[in-house]
Amino acid sequence: MKPILDYNIDDITNLLISLKQPKFRAGQIAKWLFSEQVSSFEQMTNLSKELRQMLASEYMVRSGEIVNTVICRDGTKKFLVKWPDGVQTETVLMEYHDRNTVCISTQSGCPVRCAFCASGINGLTRSLTAGEIIEQVIIAAESLGEQRLNNVVIMGMGEPFANYANVARAIKTMNADWGMNIGSRHITLSTIGIPDRIIQFAHDFPQITLAISLHAPNDKLRAELIPWAVNFPMRDILTAIDDYYEITHREVTIEYVMLDGVNSLPKHAEALAKLLRPYRINVNLINYNTVSETGHKPAHENAVNNFMEILKDRGINVHLRQSKGIDINAACGQLRNSHNQQSSQD
Ligand code: SF4
Repeated sequence: MKPILDYNIDDITNLLISLKQPKFRAGQIAKWLFSEQVSSFEQMTNLSKELRQMLASEYMVRSGEIVNTVICRDGTKKFLVKWPDGVQTETVLMEYHDRNTVCISTQSGCPVRCAFCASGINGLTRSLTAGEIIEQVIIAAESLGEQRLNNVVIMGMGEPFANYANVARAIKTMNADWGMNIGSRHITLSTIGIPDRIIQFAHDFPQITLAISLHAPNDKLRAELIPWAVNFPMRDILTAIDDYYEITHREVTIEYVMLDGVNSLPKHAEALAKLLRPYRINVNLINYNTVSETGHKPAHENAVNNFMEILKDRGINVHLRQSKGIDINAACGQLRNSHNQQSSQD
C-alpha cells in the first residue's frame, strides 16, 4: 500500500489521469486529505464509490500508529508514532495561552549526535517521507478537536537539512492553498546550519522562519556539543546568515541551549555577543531539559539571567524560550528511548 499523503496536487492529478478519472477530482481529494483530514477514502463522500474503492485498493490515507501518548502537567502532549516499518518518532503538541504549536520530527534518530540530546544517542535510523512529516501535523490537529493549530515548528527528531527534499515537499503541502493552508509565517524550521542549504532554503522558502542551533560561541566547543558541526565551520554559517538576510530581508533566530558550566558562563556570553554583533539575528536562549543519559544539567537561573544581561548590554536581541513538557521527557528522543527501554524490560 502506498501512502497518499506523500502526494502533492500534481501527483494526485496524474494518478486520476492514469485511472481515467476527471482531473477536477484532484482538488476534491486534496481537500479531504489535507483540509478535512479524513482517515479513510470511504469518508470522501463526493467521490464515486468505484473511485473510492480503486484508491483504497492501492493507497493508505494514514500510515502512522500512535503507540504512546503522554500529557504533561503544563498541558504539553507527546505522541510516540510508529511507522509501517517499525521505526518510531515523536511529535509534541504545546499549548501556550494564545496559541497551539506542534513540533514535528523529520528523521527517526539523528545523524548529528548532539552530546545533550536523546535523539542522537543511537544515530540515524532513517529519514521520514513527506507524508510521514505531514501526518504528524494531522495527528496534532486531530487531538486539538475544535481548537485551531496555529504553528508548526520543524524542531523534533532529526536534522531537517539532512532530509531536504522530503522536508521541502512537506512544507509546500502545509503551505499550499490546495493543501493545509498554513501560512509561511506560522512555520519555523530549526537546523544546526548547513551553509549551502541555508542559501537554498532562503530561495525556496523566504517567508518561513529559520532558526539555527549554535549552542556555542566557538568552533571547538561547538564540535564537542554538536559532533556533526565539525563539517561546517561557524564562519561559513555566519556568511550564509548574511546571504540569507540579503535574499529574504528576514533575521535568523539563533538557538542556544544553556548547559550548566559548559556553555553558559559569562565568558561564553561575552564571546557570543562579539561573534554575533555584526549580524542581523536574534537569540533564543533555551534552558536545558535534562536527559539523564547525557550527564548534562540545566544552567542555574542566575547564570541564565546573567547570560541574557550580557547579551542585551552588547546590543543583542535576546529572549528566553519557555521549556515545555519537563515532566514528560519532552526533549526530543526521550520518549522513544524510555519507551524502548520499557519494552525491552517487559
Ligand atoms: S538536538 Fe537536534 S540536531 Fe542534535 S542530535 Fe538532537 S535531534 Fe539531532
